[in-house]
Amino acid sequence: MNVALRSHTSVTSKTYEHTILIVDDNPTNLGVLSDYLRDSGFRILVARSGESALKKVKYATPDLILLDVMMPGLNGFETCRRLKADETTKEIPVIFMTALAEPEDKVEGFRVGGVDYVIKPLHHAEVLARVTTHLRLRDLTKDLQEQNLQLQRTTVQLETSSQVAKQATSILELDELLERVVQLIQSQFVYYFVGIWLPNRLQDALVLQTYAAPTATGAIPKATANQRPAVHVPIEMENSIVAWVFRQGEQYVAEDVSLDPTYLALDNLPDTQSELALPLHIGSEMIGILDIQSNQLAAFGAEDKIVLQTLADQIAIAIRNAHLYKREQGRRQLSESLEQTGRVLSGSLDLHQTPGRILQLLADVVPYERGAVMLQYDQELRSIAQRGFPDDDRVKELQVPIREGDVFDQMLSTRQPIVVDDVTAEAGWQQVIWLPVDHSWLGVPLISKYRVMGMISLTRREVAAFTSDDVTLVLSFASQAAVALENANLYAEISRLNEDLEQKVAQRTQELNEAYQVLERLNKAKTDFIDVTSHELRTPLSVIRGYTQVLGIMPAITHNAEIKDLLDGIVNGVDRLHQIVNLMLDVVKIDTAALNIHPEPTPIEVVINEVVARLTKALQERELTLTVEPLELLPPLEIDPDLMNKVFNQLITNAIKYTPDGGSITISGRLISAKASQPMVELVIQDTGIGIHPSHHEQIFEKFYQTGSVALHSTGQTKFKGGGPGLGLAIVRGIVSAHGGRVWVESSGHDEENYPGSQFYIQLPVKQP
Ligand code: ADP
Repeated sequence: MNVALRSHTSVTSKTYEHTILIVDDNPTNLGVLSDYLRDSGFRILVARSGESALKKVKYATPDLILLDVMMPGLNGFETCRRLKADETTKEIPVIFMTALAEPEDKVEGFRVGGVDYVIKPLHHAEVLARVTTHLRLRDLTKDLQEQNLQLQRTTVQLETSSQVAKQATSILELDELLERVVQLIQSQFVYYFVGIWLPNRLQDALVLQTYAAPTATGAIPKATANQRPAVHVPIEMENSIVAWVFRQGEQYVAEDVSLDPTYLALDNLPDTQSELALPLHIGSEMIGILDIQSNQLAAFGAEDKIVLQTLADQIAIAIRNAHLYKREQGRRQLSESLEQTGRVLSGSLDLHQTPGRILQLLADVVPYERGAVMLQYDQELRSIAQRGFPDDDRVKELQVPIREGDVFDQMLSTRQPIVVDDVTAEAGWQQVIWLPVDHSWLGVPLISKYRVMGMISLTRREVAAFTSDDVTLVLSFASQAAVALENANLYAEISRLNEDLEQKVAQRTQELNEAYQVLERLNKAKTDFIDVTSHELRTPLSVIRGYTQVLGIMPAITHNAEIKDLLDGIVNGVDRLHQIVNLMLDVVKIDTAALNIHPEPTPIEVVINEVVARLTKALQERELTLTVEPLELLPPLEIDPDLMNKVFNQLITNAIKYTPDGGSITISGRLISAKASQPMVELVIQDTGIGIHPSHHEQIFEKFYQTGSVALHSTGQTKFKGGGPGLGLAIVRGIVSAHGGRVWVESSGHDEENYPGSQFYIQLPVKQP
């Protein structure tokens, strides 16, 4: 219900000083009656004509009119009709004074709106009695009307009050709440202006947060609309009603603002006539002002003040609730953001992306105009990520020198955040000239492992825009960000190291390849050399051999023991050379992968026994005991018997050569059949010889490799430590490998006094038929 109500008077009935307008063209009558009524305690106005009466009632509203009927110009009836036709005068009771005593005249008088009549000549006491009666009637009606109005008004107030209470508990967004409340009060009470002022952060000024003023001549900037600057009034200001109320914590009413020195006119509100400002407070804490302005003089009755203060108290509680809610919401948002930040940042190890993500996530928690992540490099802070900056190439190279005593220097040394409320008032502030001035600045150090690595720098346009809550928020954020930056940094470093390492490995591999190629070339040259030499030696050797055989059967030689010895020496030497040449040819075959294997199922003991039989003589000469453990149970092997013969011949010969006289040689074998792999036959030739140092276990299988000095070798093939070309084991490995087997040696070391012995192992696959 929208009722425009203006109450100037109180509800309770009281004695008015009544004004009576007497209208009569006869000055004598007028004078006598005026004197009489004035003496009876009334204010008297007079008019000599109907026209003049109509004019007078306009500016001086009488409480009753005594109206002569017979007048020149407008007569009484006509004058009355006009009074009743006018809204502003129709309620004034009219009593006719008439000499006409005809009933028609009386009826006409009532018809045009008169309440009574007195007959001329006037009987003064009667006039007084009638006037008094009608005035009392009039007063009673007025009181009733007023009570009725006040009732309506109270209903509106109660209704508004309950609506405000409802809004206050249901709306938790402060801006929305205040907006609704001022709209409600303004529309329900039809005030010219209803506004709410809240103190700024520094508590040195009141800011017009929001207002409702439908008939204002233009928009007034308000804080909720994010209009900068909203209307500000310094709290210390003398001629401002709202500032006064904020300082005093009491209501203030200006019945007529034109007479009030404290009144401060707001732009666009030219029609303000009276103003009521009510404190919004919780206990003794002032939290704002409810400011109501009316375009009527003295628009605020005692009742209004009480009701409006009740509303103000409800608004104050609602503001406090909204603040609490906002803080709680802020906390929740922060913890969510931090949690999210932790997740996002710990997952991001890219040094180029992390700082940007930090600023992005931060913007959700603490709004800012411009933000930068800056890292310290010596005496300089360099920006590595920016947000909200103008589109300018210089932004990427943004750097600030750290000067002694400036804010950065302070922050780096104290490790504490720094807030500058107004950079333009900060001595020594280094404003980047091509950037717009944002008044507020917040710098928070990025600390990782007790080291300040840089800072997060934020700006806001207005003065003193960062609250202590903001600082706390950015601070918790910064600690996470610092760890993320540190991680990204470490990661970048590790990546760099890895890249270096990879490069080095590649380089070494290349070098190794080159060396390998050189070696291969050398190896090939060696093989070629052996190949050529052995072929070249074979022919003349065969010739020598043939001739010595011929010589051996010639009687001249067989009968001459001396020459026979010499010839035997030649024959032995040639045989040895022949063997060596054969070995060389075998090596070439193995090296050039030209070894042809002709495998056939062969019991291994057959091969071994053949070799042993051939070496019986040598064993006897050297007084060596050779034991071949039973091998019959081993499965026959798919092997080339001739090549395998060479293998065992070489290994047993070596055992004879490197075992001192009187020693022993044992040959054993077993079947190895593990489930997962192919079954193998393992043969071991064990001697009680000089042994081999572990460092040579592999090398002895290389061609031309011999341990010890060549010069020390005795020459005989089966003599103790008899020399050889160092090809035997190379051939052994070549042949065994070609059979899909492997060969190796085990020996605790080389010792020519204690003879630790050696064990040569051969494993050959058992081919499934
Ligand atoms: P060589 O013709 O010199 O015998 P091998 O290739 O047969 O060449 O052997 C290489 C080297 O391995 C030998 O010079 C010797 O030092 C060592 N060697 C081989 N077999 C034995 C063994 N049973 N005991 C000790 N040393 C051995």
